[in-house]
Amino acid sequence: MPAPLTLVETDARLPHSADAVVIGAGIVGVFTAYYLAGRGLKVVLIEKGRVGAEQSSRNWGWCRQQNRDARELPMATKSLDLWERFAAETGEDTGFRRCGLLYLSDNEEELAGWARWRDFARTVGVTTHMLDSAEASERGKATRRSWKGGVYSPTDGTADPANAAPAVARAIVKLGGAVLQNCAARGIEMEGGRLSGVVTEHGTIRTKVAILAGGAWASSFCRQLGIRFPQASTRSSILSVGPGDGNLPDALHTARVSVTRRGDGGHTLAISGRGRIDLTAQNMRFAAQFLPMFMRRWRSLSPGGLEGLRSGHESLARWRLDRPTPMEHMRILDPAVDASTIKLTYERAVELLPALGGRRITASWAGYIDSTPDGVPAIGEVASVPGFILAAGFSGHGFGIGPGAGHLIADIVTAANQIVDPLPYHPKRFQTSAWGKVADF
Ligand SMILES: Cc1cc2nc3c(=O)[nH]c(=O)nc-3n(C[C@H](O)[C@H](O)[C@H](O)COP(=O)(O)OP(=O)(O)OC[C@H]3O[C@@H](n4cnc5c(N)ncnc54)[C@H](O)[C@@H]3O)c2cc1C
Repeated sequence: MPAPLTLVETDARLPHSADAVVIGAGIVGVFTAYYLAGRGLKVVLIEKGRVGAEQSSRNWGWCRQQNRDARELPMATKSLDLWERFAAETGEDTGFRRCGLLYLSDNEEELAGWARWRDFARTVGVTTHMLDSAEASERGKATRRSWKGGVYSPTDGTADPANAAPAVARAIVKLGGAVLQNCAARGIEMEGGRLSGVVTEHGTIRTKVAILAGGAWASSFCRQLGIRFPQASTRSSILSVGPGDGNLPDALHTARVSVTRRGDGGHTLAISGRGRIDLTAQNMRFAAQFLPMFMRRWRSLSPGGLEGLRSGHESLARWRLDRPTPMEHMRILDPAVDASTIKLTYERAVELLPALGGRRITASWAGYIDSTPDGVPAIGEVASVPGFILAAGFSGHGFGIGPGAGHLIADIVTAANQIVDPLPYHPKRFQTSAWGKVADF
């Protein structure tokens, strides 16, 4: 029962040249290619498997400002507008709706943390409402119990992970961009000290600009180019249930379980932050950098198994450009589901929302969430490889901020006014030992 995903038909022939090549058709890659194509650039988007088939179809679909780290909040705010604008510009349906997000809690410390974030958010013009016990219990009435308090963020929303990246891919094609699936990038070519081409399994595309939006595969690709990008991934397992009775909330978070309405009327059920860390050579390589993050999140993480070695996305191997690479051996990263997490999630969800008890489980799946040491994405041109732009490490937040990230990258490539300050995202921060603090939320 894999994660639901709408399939898109795409091009078969590899163009010889392009103004820009985008590697990876997750939400970040598709929005990057969309904004570049919209500015009249000849864009080629290449995907080793299927559009949206990795993290971008496996997530909950939350597009939120609520509880965002200060460095990421501007991009989150802009992205909400861009999600809406995309639908208006293209007529394509990503499932995005500003349905508001509801957080409920009985824990004073948690409520105090949300109140602190509300105070900070006010200073940057973001609206969120703290709920007292009566308001929280009223908004959460589907839980049939009372709550100490909560928070409601009315301007946040959700999009449909099964449809979003495919919808954007269709829009790229309408704008004249080329999208290729089953086409892995193996590496790059350099000429005169800057990038001059992208080598794929089907041939080389001449270009001066390449954007690596390769999700969990980015660090191993960077390693081939002599770029050190500290990245680690955790395996998260979630499930969906079909539509049914009960007036359930669109998006509800509690510490024990979270529930999100899906585009098909069913719901996604998940436990926030819970995941397994699988053994990989890359995890070992960057263990020291990830220690502060791990110390903060260790309660919800547990050791995994050999799944990461089987997947090959965090290999330290060097590969040749004229032979199949690990990306061609693993077209779609589809790690094994953690059965105990699925069982626990379902039990907690039914306990929280009894109306879910009669629903049929329609799918369960796992996804590798790729992170940076500070929990903020890495976006920017890498100085040692002029023309090569890294856009990865979205640390569990990339779906919601995909439009803003894509827009920023298009701004960088076309030297346009940048939609947000790019500095907090630049990957050069990882070259120093003091790259900054771990994201608060
Ligand atoms: C269970 C789960 C829940 C989540 N919940 C949320 C949420 O509610 N809200 C939110 O904002 N975020 C959430 N996230 C995080 C979010 O899904 C990711 O941050 C986001 O999808 C990352 O997008 P991406 O485009 O960077 O990567 P991906 O979607 O992983 O896409 C990368 C693509 O690059 C391709 N690729 C890699 N290397 C190559 C190559 N060499 N050549 C060609 N193609 C290549 C891959 O095949 C893949 O399709 C969640 C993630 C998971 C797993």
